[in-house]
Amino acid sequence: MRFLHPDMYVGSIKNIDIQKLKKAGIKALIFDLDNTLVPWNSSELTEETLAWFKELHKEGFKTCIVSNNNRQRVTKLCNLLEIPGIHKASKPRRKAFRRALRMLQVKPEETAMVGDQVFTDVLGAKRLGLYTILVVPISKREFIGTRINRQLEKLVLRRIKHRLIQ
Ligand SMILES: [Mg+2]
Repeated sequence: MRFLHPDMYVGSIKNIDIQKLKKAGIKALIFDLDNTLVPWNSSELTEETLAWFKELHKEGFKTCIVSNNNRQRVTKLCNLLEIPGIHKASKPRRKAFRRALRMLQVKPEETAMVGDQVFTDVLGAKRLGLYTILVVPISKREFIGTRINRQLEKLVLRRIKHRLIQ
């Protein structure tokens, strides 16, 4: 089960320790979209999230979005954040993660994946050797297919709950 355990587990993206990532040699962050940056199927980025991305970029991190959602939605959020993105990513398959690494021109060991799902975001990224950051989902509403994974996810979360940084 260890291959499903993230390297960092946080209440939300704002709890991510940027300096710790720098020390670990991380140069780029790949973000999931739904329930990681915005509630599921919402396009409302908070001022806080926008400011946090500014901070990340100021610190020299490259960023992009890798989402299983559709082009229209991913493009809209990417434009708001002024970062590149990949839609219909089919996570946990590795293809989209590889594309993201090429796009950002970074190596797997220099890259962190930030997402709210163990069986797509964490599993997919771990298969490529990325650093993995699991966030607590923003809202409980989500794609029906996700709910089955959530049941399995509970088994993993039980083992890592003591590590949660809020
Ligand atoms: Mg998600």
